[in-house]
Amino acid sequence: MSSVAVGVFAVSAHADVEYTDQPQLHAIQQAVSAERIETDIEKLVSFGTRHTLSETESDTRGIGAARRWIKAEFDKISAECGGCLEVYYQSRVISDEPRIPEPVEVVSVIAVQKGTVDPSRYVIMSGDIDSRVSDVMNYTSDAPGANDNASGVAGTLEAARVLSKYKFAGSIVYAALAGEEQGLFGGQIMAEQAKQDGWRIKAVLNNDMIGNIEGINGVINNTTARIFAEGTRQDETPEDIRRRRFTGGEVDSPSRNVARYIDWMADRYIPNLDTMVIYRLDRFARGGHHRPFNDLGFPGVRIMETNENYNRQHQDLRVENGIAYGDTIDGVDFDYAAKLTALNAVSLASMAWAPSPPAEVKIAGAVSPSTTLSWAAPAEAEKEHVKGYRIYWRHTDAPNWEFSRYVGNVTEYTLENIVIDNYFFGVASVSQDDFESPVVYPGPAGAFGE
Ligand SMILES: [Zn+2]
Repeated sequence: MSSVAVGVFAVSAHADVEYTDQPQLHAIQQAVSAERIETDIEKLVSFGTRHTLSETESDTRGIGAARRWIKAEFDKISAECGGCLEVYYQSRVISDEPRIPEPVEVVSVIAVQKGTVDPSRYVIMSGDIDSRVSDVMNYTSDAPGANDNASGVAGTLEAARVLSKYKFAGSIVYAALAGEEQGLFGGQIMAEQAKQDGWRIKAVLNNDMIGNIEGINGVINNTTARIFAEGTRQDETPEDIRRRRFTGGEVDSPSRNVARYIDWMADRYIPNLDTMVIYRLDRFARGGHHRPFNDLGFPGVRIMETNENYNRQHQDLRVENGIAYGDTIDGVDFDYAAKLTALNAVSLASMAWAPSPPAEVKIAGAVSPSTTLSWAAPAEAEKEHVKGYRIYWRHTDAPNWEFSRYVGNVTEYTLENIVIDNYFFGVASVSQDDFESPVVYPGPAGAFGE
């Protein structure tokens, strides 16, 4: 009855998983330009400091000049695609915070490329505008922030240039977020506004430092990147936690399955890049702008270099004992930043061309030889767009999905003679042209929402 080769372990990653190669994603990978990323990082560095508390009047120095330039770049990209981007500032006055004691307007720049089929569904790429030196309150000294995080903003602009040439089923958002170093304010403002506006966010790809290849430990490597993703979701209720204890899901939050998805995008579309999915929200005791989205239950990950150099982060520009400190542009590898930008671009495109991840995924099969998964039918807007669904499963200690079966356009399917206790299961939706959503683990632990 079943054609599953029980007992056969996949020898290489996703060896037993069928997948349709997508020529458009290779074209997107090839279109990303290291030269344009270099030009944009140079420009962002030229503002001297982009500290959140720095001056806003000058056209050449400070955070005000920087955000106006980013807005103008998004406007230019939009003009070239017939106004395909909705570009706007998003701001809130912050005060009485440890790192923002006096009232300061924290201003992010956001560009939205609306989907043609399911526009209220969003995937987001972000980078941070602001920079800092050793003293987080020093807003006058030069803080070039070339890698932290002009690289992330330049990558976000470049992804917008490349992807705005295409039309997608779901919406894509390009966000240059403000106030990161002072307390993750731009991300918090954006996440709260998105929730209030009913945005169905399916993935936040937060890019924070994507250009350094020389590690503090002496390793030089341009072929790996990290994807940080939390394991259990932050918005679990006590009932969710009780249920997870019995049915699993500790390593299958929607963020984690977005990370697995991006890991495969690297294998399939980015030459000479392997990603490490890190089973952790972020680095030890450090933060990033995916966190405020996770706090509200939205899936989100941090994409960044593998090899960090702490002499180049949050440092006053100086030479001490022969060591040059500071986040200057000579520490950025533009080809590497382009590689990680391409990883973002193909992942965003693939998710935005795919249908929404399945909702209301459930699993049953205790004390029986077979396992049954069920899920909600596609929403009205996506009825024509959905071709069907693919079920995935893996051994419980395997890092990524090992087996899959396309099951057609149904809302329930039984895997005959595959015992529920021995694997983790999930389901992805598939578009008419074979783009797939991330895999959704059953129940609240893995849910991507409606
Ligand atoms: Zn930083």
